[in-house]
Amino acid sequence: MRGAGLSAHVRSSNVTVCREMSVTGETMADDGILEPWGSGLARINRATGERLAVVGAAMQLRDLPCPACGSGSFHPLVVRNDFPIVRCDSCGSLYARPRPLEEQLASLYERFPQLSNGREGQANDDPQDGRWEAEYRLRRLLEFVKAGRLLDVGCGRGDFLTVAQRHFEVQGVDLVPRLRPEARTHHVFRGRLEDAGYPNAYFDVVTAVEVFEHMFDPRRTIREIHRVLKSRGILLFQTGDADSLRARLNLRTWTYLQPPVHLNVFSRKALEQLAAAAGFLPLTSWSFGRAPRKIPLLANLWHADALRPVLDILASRRVIGAMHVWRSEI
Ligand SMILES: [Zn+2]
Repeated sequence: MRGAGLSAHVRSSNVTVCREMSVTGETMADDGILEPWGSGLARINRATGERLAVVGAAMQLRDLPCPACGSGSFHPLVVRNDFPIVRCDSCGSLYARPRPLEEQLASLYERFPQLSNGREGQANDDPQDGRWEAEYRLRRLLEFVKAGRLLDVGCGRGDFLTVAQRHFEVQGVDLVPRLRPEARTHHVFRGRLEDAGYPNAYFDVVTAVEVFEHMFDPRRTIREIHRVLKSRGILLFQTGDADSLRARLNLRTWTYLQPPVHLNVFSRKALEQLAAAAGFLPLTSWSFGRAPRKIPLLANLWHADALRPVLDILASRRVIGAMHVWRSEI
């Protein structure tokens, strides 16, 4: 079956369509990222019921092929936030089809910057988590590279820039930076990486944590990362995993699928193809560092170094999502 069930949304392939986002009620998130509100979406603080942001009621959408591999063949799976989520028949990635135009996404984040971070503004948002995750990420990165020029793509509140500056000369890029006071002295480009104009082979390290799932054209962004990295430079990234146990168990309740914020969830096969096509060699995969401190049992498990090897094995076996390290080979 190819594309069945989408005709209500898309009149023909490869054309821009406009429609009201009449939300169907399929939105739900344990941490309440997006919920229906009026004719659009609202981000709700589930603890207080406070409405934090309302997403625009109408978005221009385009029917585009797989953002991971370019294949046009797919199976519809679920509808989330009124966006059909499909699985690519070629690489197994999950993606929203149709998807908002790139300028629509930019204006979404411009208007509602807190949407770019799943926990920001939520009851379980704790600044300590951001710092702990940044320290964990730095510790793992230092296993591969000890110094040099580092670029954090999607630097958000700047937690990683702040800890990484102890070892690296740091810069950031973000569509809508929301730097904490202690991070405001860092050099951060506001906009897309592709528009920052960094020189060729300029950085020793690029990090992109929880970024590719948001991107309109992640393949283009990975090519740009490769361009600005030195030969044998390191790319560290973390993103959702279409092969994880959680994704395989029940997509209907997997809160990571949050279009139009999270649009792409790559399979491991897609990541291997992406690495080869862009000139990277995958070096290793580790478990995530992410666990809200305000969920004690989960946080204790995730933060316990003794359990880290077990978590890493689970990540490498595709049970849980992974943080990946690739090296530029060209
Ligand atoms: Zn694909």
